[in-house]
Amino acid sequence: MGSGTAGPAAGIFLARAGHEVTLFERAPREEAVGAGFLLQPTGLAVLKELGLAEKVLGVTQKIGGLYCETASGRVLLDLKYKELGTDLFGLGTHRSSLLSVLLKAFTDSGGEMRWGSMIEEMSLEGGVRFLNGEGPFDLVLLCDGARSKLRDQSGIEVRVDRYPWGALWFIGRRTPGFAADVLWQRVGSTRELCGFLPTGTKQDYLSLFWSVRLDEPFPGLAEWKRALLNLVPEAEEFLEQVKSVDQLQRASYHDVRMGKWHGERVAILGDAAHALSPQLGQGINLALCDASVLAGCLAEFELEEALAEYTRRRRKHVGFYQFATRWTTPFFQSDYLKLGKLRDLSFPLAMKIPYVRRQMIATMSGLKTGPFGQLTL
Ligand SMILES: Cc1cc2nc3c(=O)[nH]c(=O)nc-3n(C[C@H](O)[C@H](O)[C@H](O)COP(=O)(O)OP(=O)(O)OC[C@H]3O[C@@H](n4cnc5c(N)ncnc54)[C@H](O)[C@@H]3O)c2cc1C
Repeated sequence: MGSGTAGPAAGIFLARAGHEVTLFERAPREEAVGAGFLLQPTGLAVLKELGLAEKVLGVTQKIGGLYCETASGRVLLDLKYKELGTDLFGLGTHRSSLLSVLLKAFTDSGGEMRWGSMIEEMSLEGGVRFLNGEGPFDLVLLCDGARSKLRDQSGIEVRVDRYPWGALWFIGRRTPGFAADVLWQRVGSTRELCGFLPTGTKQDYLSLFWSVRLDEPFPGLAEWKRALLNLVPEAEEFLEQVKSVDQLQRASYHDVRMGKWHGERVAILGDAAHALSPQLGQGINLALCDASVLAGCLAEFELEEALAEYTRRRRKHVGFYQFATRWTTPFFQSDYLKLGKLRDLSFPLAMKIPYVRRQMIATMSGLKTGPFGQLTL
């Protein structure tokens, strides 16, 4: 249930394995909504497994690395995928572009799509059923995002925290001054962060994100532009495309913790299972990996054992990114101004140590499973 990333990806795997799969989505139809995001080598590996890499390459922009500097020009991060392997890269794209590719493959694989299906209650008595009358199902996959309604009814303990910080997003045409192949960021204190991600596709798009404290009122368009240009003067031409506040999207972040991601005839995937702040840009990639691992477990084991194995196999990878994201986020988005000073001193030094820099690139690529553990693609 839930047609974001985890739902359709898992649906394709299971439909192709011969299962009867129905995907319930509350949105009335496929819509071009959602911010730009960075697909990492781990996410791309799952798309390759699904035979969708070529299609996705057609609607994405190759990204060679991440660059982040302070307002005074001190380089905090300059991470290039090719330092880890010449064939590694990221892909900038829009949520809707990836979704279109996944949904087509899902229906082509025999999956049934049900738009406009808001599922709010389920019962676990005598098999899983939705209380709108659908079911019983052999297995329900909860892929309904960070604010999942059904997660609480699965009987699995969960803790959900909302970050006080989020972001304003805008997608426009890329203007001169922003490279087409780098996720570029500039930071001030820990209260000021601005990033630009090329998301290419048919048009030369650029996705802007600006850090906001969610309980602070929007200062008005002119004042907001002034603050942004104060940090990033080179964005002047790009910002001319923002004529109204309605063109800005607001995003909040959640931190979801669960001891396990399965119950009886229920598995939880993606943000519903382990939402993170997008500081390390991993959510979609983890969701794709969840889908691949769950499908592998279901092919290998009987249902009960497969679900337990799914939790077991995902624990290290997800656990590393939960830890790293919680640890890193306050250095870039928080009220702890002293952390900003520490960041500006320590990150440039860390970048000079080749081993540490390679660990940072592996982290960015989505590959880490622990301080010394790493996935191989
Ligand atoms: C500002 C921002 C930037 C991000 N940048 C990146 C990035 O660069 N890289 C990256 O990998 N990740 C990024 N992420 C995270 C990424 O967007 C999420 O991790 C990813 O979308 C999770 O996918 P999902 O399928 O688990 O959930 P979602 O994409 O949230 O999809 C859930 C789906 O379930 C549906 N749904 C919800 N409730 C119900 C219901 N009751 N009944 C039926 N349907 C329901 C929703 O309509 C939705 O379609 C970012 C997130 C944010 C907020």
